[in-house]
Amino acid sequence: MGSNPIARIFQILFQQRPSMLILFDLDGTLITSYMERPDRQYHRWQVLPNRRALLAQLRAEDHQLGIATNQGGVGLGFITQAAFYRKLGLVLEALELPCDLPVAVCFAHPQARRKEYRSPDALARRKPNPGMLLELAQNFSEAAAGGVLYVGDKPEDRQAARAAGADFAWAEDFFDQE
Ligand SMILES: [Mg+2]
Repeated sequence: MGSNPIARIFQILFQQRPSMLILFDLDGTLITSYMERPDRQYHRWQVLPNRRALLAQLRAEDHQLGIATNQGGVGLGFITQAAFYRKLGLVLEALELPCDLPVAVCFAHPQARRKEYRSPDALARRKPNPGMLLELAQNFSEAAAGGVLYVGDKPEDRQAARAAGADFAWAEDFFDQE
């Protein structure tokens, strides 16, 4: 972390807390967002700056990391679940994260054609709803007892964190992006 005062505050927070559950959004937070590409190419992405080093540092400090991501493109029929999992594997590898990192994913979308992708239960997991964050906090209750932080790039990420009772950080602040 550099001179960004917000990044310094996070650094101090982490030094004081022995272990937390730190969850990340995926697109636009850890990797480039395909939604912001003019061609919307799902398989063209890059790891964003500073991610690898800071994630490694957080793991070395014994924080439990995880990912919570909306992938409504599946519900809308633009991509398949298999395409998502293929990409996820490559992303974890590129980020030097373990392949069994906890990942909560929501394929639902309110405009999905198939009913299974727009049922109330499925949509309750979709951000800005807190379902995925609550799931991960429940599954990793020991780390969550030290605090839950969600890092994202969109207002719905912040809303989901608030609804889950978690702290929130904007990705560009957390990763001290210039
Ligand atoms: Mg995002």
